[in-house]
Amino acid sequence: MYKPAISTKPIRSLEDALDRCQMLGMRVSRQRRFILELLWQVNEHLSAREIYDRLNQQGKDIGHTSVYQNLEALSTQDIIECIEHCNCRLYGHNSEMHSHVNSLDTNKILDVHVELPESVIRQVETQTGISISNYTINFYGYQNSPDNQDNH
Ligand SMILES: [Zn+2]
Repeated sequence: MYKPAISTKPIRSLEDALDRCQMLGMRVSRQRRFILELLWQVNEHLSAREIYDRLNQQGKDIGHTSVYQNLEALSTQDIIECIEHCNCRLYGHNSEMHSHVNSLDTNKILDVHVELPESVIRQVETQTGISISNYTINFYGYQNSPDNQDNH
């Protein structure tokens, strides 16, 4: 199957993300750049509301509607990540397949790359009859547990 080069180059930096916009013929407006810059700076998953608040705290001139429209456009094109979390949409800069660690006390979601052993994937395939091409795992835990504090 023919795959255009556009979808094969992974987005690993803010520059890659901006390049992808241009390749797709998306205009890189100031507002669009603000959003991408923020997501690459913070390394977190943020809601549209949080993105709006943080940009305005930084003195960036951007309206609600612009934030929502840009997030929609960027996530539709897989330039940024969009996840559903507690009936809310969160956005992150990592558009490649990855897993998440959910911190239950700080409510943060961290990106992590986990590779399952081949035997586990085969087991899932045997149980379901579906051939697995990709996966994402959600881990849950506490950031400020006594176990973690021993390490400091
Ligand atoms: Zn993520």
